[in-house]
Amino acid sequence: MSIVKKEGIDNLNAKQLAAVKHTKGPLLIIAGAGTGKTTVITERVKHIILEKMARPEEILALTFTEKAALEMEKRVDIALPYGTFGLWISTFHSFCDRILRAEALHIGLSHDFRLLTEAELYLFVKNHFWKFEFSYFRPNANPYKFIAGLLSHFSRLKDEDVSYKEYLAFAEKKRKGVKPEDKEMKEEAQKFMELASAYKIYEELKAKEGVMDFSDLIGNVLKLFRSRPSLLSMYRRKFRYILIDEFQDTNFAQYQLIKLLAPPSSDPNLSVVGDDSQSIYKFRGAAISNILSFMHDYPKASQILLTTSYRCSQSILSASYRLITNNNPNTLEAQLGINKNLTAFDRRKGEPIDFFYLPRVEDEAQEVARFILTYKKEHNKAYKDFAILVRANNHSDPFIRAFEREHIPYQFLGPGMLFAQPEVRDLIAYLKVLYDFNDSVSLYRVLSAEIFGVEARDIIAVLSVGKRSNNSLFEQLEKIDEVRNISESSRKKIIQFVEMVHRHQKLIPSETAGQILYYFLEDSGLLKKVYEYHSAEGERRALNISKFFDKLKSFEAMNKDASVFSVVDYFDLTLQTGESPAASQVDWSENNAVNILTLHSAKGLEFDIVILANLVEGRFPSRERREQISIPEELIREQLPTGDYHIQEERRLFYVGMTRAKEKLIMTAANYYGEGKRERKISPYVAEALGHDKTSFIPKPNTSSQIPLFDWSTKTNSIEQVTGTPSFTPVDYLSYSAIEAFKICPLHFKLRHILRIPTLPTAAQARGNSIHYALRDFGQMFLTGSKPSVKDKDILFGLLAKNWIKWGYKSREHEKESHLRALNFLEEYLKSDLHKTGKPIYLERPFNFRVRHDLKILGKIDRIDNLGGGNIHVIDYKTGARVPTKKELDQNMQMTIYALAATDPGILAKEISKIKFSFYFFENGSLVSTVRTQNQLEAAKLELIDMRDQISTSDFSCSHSIICRDCEYKIFCG
Ligand code: ATP
Ligand code: MG
Repeated sequence: MSIVKKEGIDNLNAKQLAAVKHTKGPLLIIAGAGTGKTTVITERVKHIILEKMARPEEILALTFTEKAALEMEKRVDIALPYGTFGLWISTFHSFCDRILRAEALHIGLSHDFRLLTEAELYLFVKNHFWKFEFSYFRPNANPYKFIAGLLSHFSRLKDEDVSYKEYLAFAEKKRKGVKPEDKEMKEEAQKFMELASAYKIYEELKAKEGVMDFSDLIGNVLKLFRSRPSLLSMYRRKFRYILIDEFQDTNFAQYQLIKLLAPPSSDPNLSVVGDDSQSIYKFRGAAISNILSFMHDYPKASQILLTTSYRCSQSILSASYRLITNNNPNTLEAQLGINKNLTAFDRRKGEPIDFFYLPRVEDEAQEVARFILTYKKEHNKAYKDFAILVRANNHSDPFIRAFEREHIPYQFLGPGMLFAQPEVRDLIAYLKVLYDFNDSVSLYRVLSAEIFGVEARDIIAVLSVGKRSNNSLFEQLEKIDEVRNISESSRKKIIQFVEMVHRHQKLIPSETAGQILYYFLEDSGLLKKVYEYHSAEGERRALNISKFFDKLKSFEAMNKDASVFSVVDYFDLTLQTGESPAASQVDWSENNAVNILTLHSAKGLEFDIVILANLVEGRFPSRERREQISIPEELIREQLPTGDYHIQEERRLFYVGMTRAKEKLIMTAANYYGEGKRERKISPYVAEALGHDKTSFIPKPNTSSQIPLFDWSTKTNSIEQVTGTPSFTPVDYLSYSAIEAFKICPLHFKLRHILRIPTLPTAAQARGNSIHYALRDFGQMFLTGSKPSVKDKDILFGLLAKNWIKWGYKSREHEKESHLRALNFLEEYLKSDLHKTGKPIYLERPFNFRVRHDLKILGKIDRIDNLGGGNIHVIDYKTGARVPTKKELDQNMQMTIYALAATDPGILAKEISKIKFSFYFFENGSLVSTVRTQNQLEAAKLELIDMRDQISTSDFSCSHSIICRDCEYKIFCG
């Protein structure tokens, strides 16, 4: 098994090895930063599979962030010799999402619920606000004042596993206990009543509208398992091994879920790893609560303590230990008498920790930029080896300016950062112009973008004429002939620009924001410009725009109203709330650029060189943001720390930050920030960590001190020249649609499958997807044993309406006609044997398998039915107009890929002779079956590898075939 060796860690130490090989019963690993906790979990999953202790789908591994889950999945995946229907390696949230998508019907919820982000929830509550019975929490002067507070209040209650019934009972008890003369007490009880009944209404509204928030994912799975014991025992049997990383941060509700799946009485194979010093997400800083509860609940658990750090040097370990002991006695070390003073694996002392202290924040940023350039050169490092960790997103601004000045490539990592990228902001700005043409700030941003090339002095001229005649910038652009002193070329560009805006304004009532933005990209020439890049920086920009369109698409998929207005509202709110890391897909990418991220999102990661910036009081530790509406202590079931929990929690965050560094750690601070005239005190954590006397810090004068005050306003384009050529990752996985695209046109393949350039879907795709989704939801009912009935038509038609995609149609009539046709299709389908006697066992099932160690094939099978006697029926739905010949179907590569998947030992391990393959054509309601032979499968494997080799060496030029005429990317090849 050579592949395993290469990717795994060869030399686990004795304790790590004991943890990996632990055979039966619960296991608790308490360990410090960088001691290999995540490594142990990953290696253990691999070990369990490779030693055949369990099959991949019988292992549940839970981690804290999407990034960590992806990483772990990747590492396990590489070690697996076979394909899978997917591993259960995920975050708590995605795990619960997956369970609910399959089982929600059991608790009367729809399995196609929409998951709302914080921003969407805010809008949701605002839209239903009159349904709540508020008095105190709806002040007349500012009725929406408490919405955000209420939302986090409810979500906290969920995290603490407090149902509205319990809350109502609590409020009732309070009310009864009120002494008539005690006004204050009466008012308080009244507030609780109001909150509890609002909680109830909130819960009911969400259920009724088929939406959930992130805490509901956990809450509803708890409800499901508690009310359906048979289902729970099915999942208990299924997950024979459960592993949990970052256990210190699981909240109370999540822990209840673990206990349900792995009840202490059953001596379950449950392994948890945690480090109380790194607890940074717990409610009111209950850092040690979880691990202590675990020891109490699973008294027989084996315990392993890891104290050798493979990441940090001794100087970093000693300093961070010095810091964290200030949290005693609220630490496991103090409470359990264990030793968490880590030693470095190779005993290397390592480089000293440096502290840069400068007069102003601009100097601080400049010093960091200079440090990066020198250190990189002297130690032969790449930009991506550096990370700057900030306490809040906007603390990064001065660093970005310094990097742009010095032509240092950088990237934001972390949740919510996508919307802050300049290229994405430009697009949002255009939507804002459409939203409100009086928004001159956004208009200015758009107009001064390079693509429009309107000179700055000309825009100023327009502005000043506008000012005199009381016109907004846009109004004055519309009357450009009133403006005399501008260049002819600017005038021409402005006229074109105004025409474009007018054209797009007209589309607002009928088209989605995404569609209009796409026209904007096309009409302005931006699409072509962005995607024809010649540098890594250009590539990053292009990928960000693709990601942004992905976000728009998922917004459109989840919201009936995806007009410019609702999309802009959504962006505004998202930027304000800054999505929480647990709640959002994090936008990670591997670029050779200095990483900027918040301390919270740095959890679990490591970098060669780490810079902790802005280490002054008020920034780090941050000022405590009190809960707007706090939860009564009586309802909290966790052990809360003594002393100032905020200061302790920030200290742990500081500890997390320090221990991200493999090689070098820099701390930086300045005397003055922003406009403030007041000197800032250095963060007390600096002295705690470095063991200095606080008075010994004196800012060093910045030797360069010649940062031109405003030069950052000229965004440097020269980054493009310094950051090298774009990099395509080697092709190690493919899908059928990617192969097809490549065969037709290599350029098309690159644009769609590497760069993921957004396109508008065609009417045929929209209808095809709508039908697929409707049938998926419909089939779900039969998976759980329902039999066909007379009501099926109503149900299926209802599902089509619910899943209907409005995109891509030329007119309302066109759409109506297509919808009618889809109804016909489904009506015919209901008459087919497929519906009447088919027994689906899998629907829309994603799979992946390995053709060779270096090539994976990914895909999704529409449906697999059980034919009895060990035989199965693999079915693909076809909604397209053309029905291929039988010969074509016998050769069809897509079906051959399904055959490879179904025969893969890790997936269904079926013999090829036991599988029937069919296409169902909606166009004429026919089912056409075909077979595959072992020889065909072997030949297909060679063909797939050959395809991959062709793709790897391709120059991705256009095939100039007949298909180019209707290609959605034709602007790229003219
Ligand atoms: P954190 O507390 O930050 O989550 P962790 O305890 O999960 O850290 P890992 O991320 O698993 O630690 O490991 C830290 C680093 O040490 C990784 O680069 C990992 O590859 C390396 N490492 C772990 N164990 C060993 C080992 N036995 N030999 C060599 N390297 C190791
Ligand atoms: Mg870890």
